[in-house]
Amino acid sequence: MTTDTSSDCCSQPGLQPLSSAQKKMRDALAETPALLTTEQVPVASACGRVLANDIISPMAVPPHDNSAMDGYALRAADLADNDTLPIAGECLAGHPFLQPVPEGHCLRIMTGAPVPADLDTVVMQEQTQKTDDGIRFCKKPREGANVRRAGEDIMPDSLVLPAGRNLRPQDLGLLASLGIAEVTVQRPLKVAIFSTGDELKLPGQKLEAGEIYDSNRFLVQAMLEQMGIEVVNLGCIADDPELLRKAFLDADEQADAVITSGGVSVGDADYTKDILEQEGSIGFWKLAIKPGKPFAFGRLKSSWFFGLPGNPVSATVTLHQLVVPALKQLAGETEVKPVRYPAICQTPLKKGPGRMEFQRGIVSRDEAGQLQVVTTGSQGSGILRSMSQANCYIVLEQEQGSVEAGNEVLVQPFDALL
Ligand code: AMP
Ligand code: MG
Repeated sequence: MTTDTSSDCCSQPGLQPLSSAQKKMRDALAETPALLTTEQVPVASACGRVLANDIISPMAVPPHDNSAMDGYALRAADLADNDTLPIAGECLAGHPFLQPVPEGHCLRIMTGAPVPADLDTVVMQEQTQKTDDGIRFCKKPREGANVRRAGEDIMPDSLVLPAGRNLRPQDLGLLASLGIAEVTVQRPLKVAIFSTGDELKLPGQKLEAGEIYDSNRFLVQAMLEQMGIEVVNLGCIADDPELLRKAFLDADEQADAVITSGGVSVGDADYTKDILEQEGSIGFWKLAIKPGKPFAFGRLKSSWFFGLPGNPVSATVTLHQLVVPALKQLAGETEVKPVRYPAICQTPLKKGPGRMEFQRGIVSRDEAGQLQVVTTGSQGSGILRSMSQANCYIVLEQEQGSVEAGNEVLVQPFDALL
């Protein structure tokens, strides 16, 4: 395996564009065989799991021609020179009408009931009148109207869902409609996380001078859990080379991937770099993105390593933009595409060329249905409140300058990121 994450990135002048970092990660991850084994789960427990094989339809859906309306089934030709037909019987969902329907007759039929083979059309009840002679049809129907054909949703032997699909609630419905009770899915990814820093305390503890609370681990854990990942939380590790080394070895042993925060830039207490270079092959990247410049990626003995910057906003941005797609790839997902929408920016945004920016915004629709976005204000990389207030990133391309109010920008809703 070549991860192409050696120290070249550090000695490179300039910063690495996000797209090139993403590609390097994708290529490196693709070089190792899939980490995962598969398991069988009931469809009811398969939401958020990644399909291990293609699902080929074993049957037609719907399995039989059936009525799309409550009303009357008939032969359209029987209304050629007649507008009233006597009723031959009744047909309910789950109760097929098994006798032949005599010519010139109609059948009372309910939504979902099988349409007998000798009838071709359904007229909705609202377009009929009951008379002494039967049912009067107010206007002539089109032949085939209101009949849902067998197989019109899914044909037998067709590809219904591809391997690599992260199953959504509607997919579970689709699988159930095919009579499929169990699916083969990838085992969930196991990820070990810890924060680094002498200054970090746990919420609930008393802060001493110069200390802050560890916020990163909480948001990282929650995000991973939302993705259905099993998290091994190793807590806060002080800036102490031996404790850090022990944590890295421990994490590597337990998980498919290790995510840390802090210690990946060039400060005096940033021991992470030395240890990672000794224990694995890790590249320390300076990314052309803001926030989120320092980032580390590579391989430990048996796991992948992602080193997030310490600043909480930078940690979140690199997690969303780099780590989430990588974890999806490791989990066997094949449809990993970020969704970005154009929106009118209501507030001016300051930006200089040189780095791609992920500013925090609040996107909404105006009365005309147009997407519009406003900034959450101060965009410092330590201002976690901006991330909490926001519902999207405002994505500003690397070479772009400032944005004036009324300009179009691209937004990436947080909801579409995981
Ligand atoms: P570092 O990347 O370790 O140099 O940290 C950069 C900044 O992020 C410093 O202000 C740290 O105090 C802060 N920081 C590091 N880790 C965390 C964390 N887990 N939670 C909140 N802030 C942190
Ligand atoms: Mg630190």
